[in-house]
Amino acid sequence: MRDIVIVGGGPVGTMLACVLAVGGLDVEVLEQRSQPSLRSRAIGIHPPSLRALAAIGVADALLDRAVRIREGEVRSDGHRLGQLSFERAAPGYPFVVALPQYETESLLRARFETLRPGRYRSGVTMMGVRDRGDAVVVSTDSGTIEARFVIGADGARSRVREAAGIDWRQLGQSETYLMGDFVDPASIGTASIGTASLGTAPIGTAPVNAGAVLYFERGGVVESFPLPGGRRRWVAMTDFLATDADSADLAALIRHRTGVRLPEPLGAASAFAVQQRLARSMQSKPVQVPGGPMSRPPAVGRIVLVGDAAHEISPIGGQGMNLGWLDAVALGPALQRALLEPAVAASVLAHYDRSRRSAGRRAALQAGFNMSMGRPAHGVRLRARNALVRSLTLPPANQIVARAFTMRWL
Ligand SMILES: Cc1cc2nc3c(=O)[nH]c(=O)nc-3n(C[C@H](O)[C@H](O)[C@H](O)COP(=O)(O)OP(=O)(O)OC[C@H]3O[C@@H](n4cnc5c(N)ncnc54)[C@H](O)[C@@H]3O)c2cc1C
Repeated sequence: MRDIVIVGGGPVGTMLACVLAVGGLDVEVLEQRSQPSLRSRAIGIHPPSLRALAAIGVADALLDRAVRIREGEVRSDGHRLGQLSFERAAPGYPFVVALPQYETESLLRARFETLRPGRYRSGVTMMGVRDRGDAVVVSTDSGTIEARFVIGADGARSRVREAAGIDWRQLGQSETYLMGDFVDPASIGTASIGTASLGTAPIGTAPVNAGAVLYFERGGVVESFPLPGGRRRWVAMTDFLATDADSADLAALIRHRTGVRLPEPLGAASAFAVQQRLARSMQSKPVQVPGGPMSRPPAVGRIVLVGDAAHEISPIGGQGMNLGWLDAVALGPALQRALLEPAVAASVLAHYDRSRRSAGRRAALQAGFNMSMGRPAHGVRLRARNALVRSLTLPPANQIVARAFTMRWL
């Protein structure tokens, strides 16, 4: 019997596996994919996550590959509304870093392979889980495994959550976006691109902005972030899920809204819809062991959720993966304690459930605010929004906003 089986070897499951292995636990990861996904999803990694990555020995390799973003700029209608510096946001890591999710996942898998060779089992699909009271039985397409605790790190469509009978509720409304990666003129020293510069200076006279840029425009928000390898990610809010749109459509939309003419695309554009959902609990209901001794410890729910399986947060603001990693940082020691001291297992896991659901609610609120700021606006609403953005980028509000954007309160 294993201490822990983790269902789902995405960024959160693999991070948790590393945390548990570093803590000396016997852990195995089941991942249904036989080949890693190359879908471009999370890019932003915040200072609290960098500290967590340092604790498992991954931060240096990640920092070597990632781009450091030290500031963000907000623009509207060709003008700069304000600027936000991340320099004072977090001691030790005065920046947010950007790296494509598949590269981050690959670093985490490599680290776990060093810590527990052969325990990341690709191509194994979980089919069902059953809490027996003293252990959980996991059925897979290649046999059954038993573990003291089973962790559902299997993403927003979690089968573990469903099998554990945990409800999932939607918060707020859904939004749609189109994103794509393009050559980054800043990385090749070009002073301007097309009809407008990315920075504040007039066309053709200054380096373009190498940080993050948010364009709060009448037709909806456009966001732009640097990526390693001379690339830049562009994301634009759309009126509908534009699944047929290509990178030329995205470039045309961005030019129409912001005046920025994008250079050549790197790969296809992709449309996505975001919604926010939270699980009603991050832990299954306890099951009593039939006929056990009278003095047994309180029963504990042995199926626990982390990451998107527990909370799906809008990518606008780049929090989902980071929030899941912070779940892992909290869950690692809680599981260690639950295994060593069964008498306190129920209370430490109840604390994990309460504190991480509350972090999930805060992240969802913040992402909801980000999404509402990015909606189309005209006339008085546009002027009021711009005034609010200006005030949020000035002292003292700017420090609070920088802390929120670097996930210091999660
Ligand atoms: C466009 C976009 C941009 C984003 N940008 C950011 C960002 O900048 N910053 C940020 O923090 N977040 C961002 N996110 C969110 C981030 O991608 C997710 O929060 C993150 O992937 C969640 O990780 P996870 O490990 O919980 O789940 P997932 O990444 O969904 O991984 C779950 C894993 O479980 C496996 N699995 C599922 N079912 C089973 C089964 N039955 N048996 C075995 N394995 C199974 C899957 O194959 C998968 O590998 C973005 C998301 C999108 C869509």
